[in-house]
Amino acid sequence: VAGKRSPVVIKIGSSSLVEATTHRLRSGNIESLTRQIAALVQAGRPTVLVSSGAVAVGTPRLRLPARALTIPEKQAAAAIGQGMLMQEYEKAFSRMGLTTAQVLLTRDVMGDRRRYIHARNTLTTLLEHDVVPVVNENDTVAVDEIRFGDNDTLSAHVAGLVGADMLILLTDIDGLYTADPRVDPEARRIDWIDNLSERYARMAGRSGSRVGTGGMKSKIQAAMIATRLGIPVVIAKADRPNVILDALAGEPVGTRIAAAGRMPGKKRWIAFSSAAKGAVVVDRGAVSALVDKGRSLLASGIVQVTGAFGAGDVVLIRDQAGTEIGRGVVNYDADDLRLIQGMKSEDIVSLGISSRKVEVIHRDDMVVYENAGARGGK
Ligand code: GLU
Repeated sequence: VAGKRSPVVIKIGSSSLVEATTHRLRSGNIESLTRQIAALVQAGRPTVLVSSGAVAVGTPRLRLPARALTIPEKQAAAAIGQGMLMQEYEKAFSRMGLTTAQVLLTRDVMGDRRRYIHARNTLTTLLEHDVVPVVNENDTVAVDEIRFGDNDTLSAHVAGLVGADMLILLTDIDGLYTADPRVDPEARRIDWIDNLSERYARMAGRSGSRVGTGGMKSKIQAAMIATRLGIPVVIAKADRPNVILDALAGEPVGTRIAAAGRMPGKKRWIAFSSAAKGAVVVDRGAVSALVDKGRSLLASGIVQVTGAFGAGDVVLIRDQAGTEIGRGVVNYDADDLRLIQGMKSEDIVSLGISSRKVEVIHRDDMVVYENAGARGGK
């Protein structure tokens, strides 16, 4: 955001916004949240709020018997609850002299670079005008394949989208514990994580509350995305007084997770936001050229092409054992690529297909993972 400090993204979960049994809004938490955000914005710190709670607050209005909701029922509840939530935020923020804006995103926005840039420009414009964007998934149109699954992941993507320098995940527990503190008296809070690994995801286990869909596991997964985008993460308890301001001041309010290296914007998008349309399988020579030597991918190293994609789409790069070693923006469509796979660049030129680029995936449009399975890019 031009002329301003980097934004901060704050995510609050359903369990902190809605009472588990009565499904009523927890106005105390909303009031404290908006007061702290107002203090930030007034101090020149642009702030994005990612708020869950639409399904939880909308559900009672459907007057359904007590049972698990079907997908259309959840989507209907979200449509009811989203308006109720916004009304609450609108009231609370306007008392602080601030304007709010509703931004509903879906997974496919993140997978399409043009829509991604539009979403980013909209959010940036709002922040430039001291408006507080309130973001949620567009639950009404979300279907399985395009769901974020949970707003923790959404908030990590949003943090990347706006170039945030911190993501604060507010929930009903004050951080990650070595074991479930509700059942294990030995459990202790982890205050600082330097190098977030899968080990912590296992530690987070399947913990979760009755309201919302996240739990600690999805927070750690979201933190994996954010920290690899270069954004530090704090997991803290929503109803701790001044939790946001204290977290930003570096106080030990919960679990703080350090950022990993920072990637350039386009690579970030390739690594974390883009939906792959297909895959190329490459031989051992190409694996070593990509992983060890940092080269571009040429047709000669490709042994197989799967999926239907066009030039400009993102594809996965796999080794012959099937392990994903990276991903990138491909310069050829799937049909052309099948024609030229295994061929040397000079022969491709004589075929007349290669009017554009000799590289199938240029180095600058590619992310190669540090180690197989991990999503850190080089
Ligand atoms: N988008 C859902 C809602 O607002 C919540 C998803 C989540 O809990 O992470 O109800």
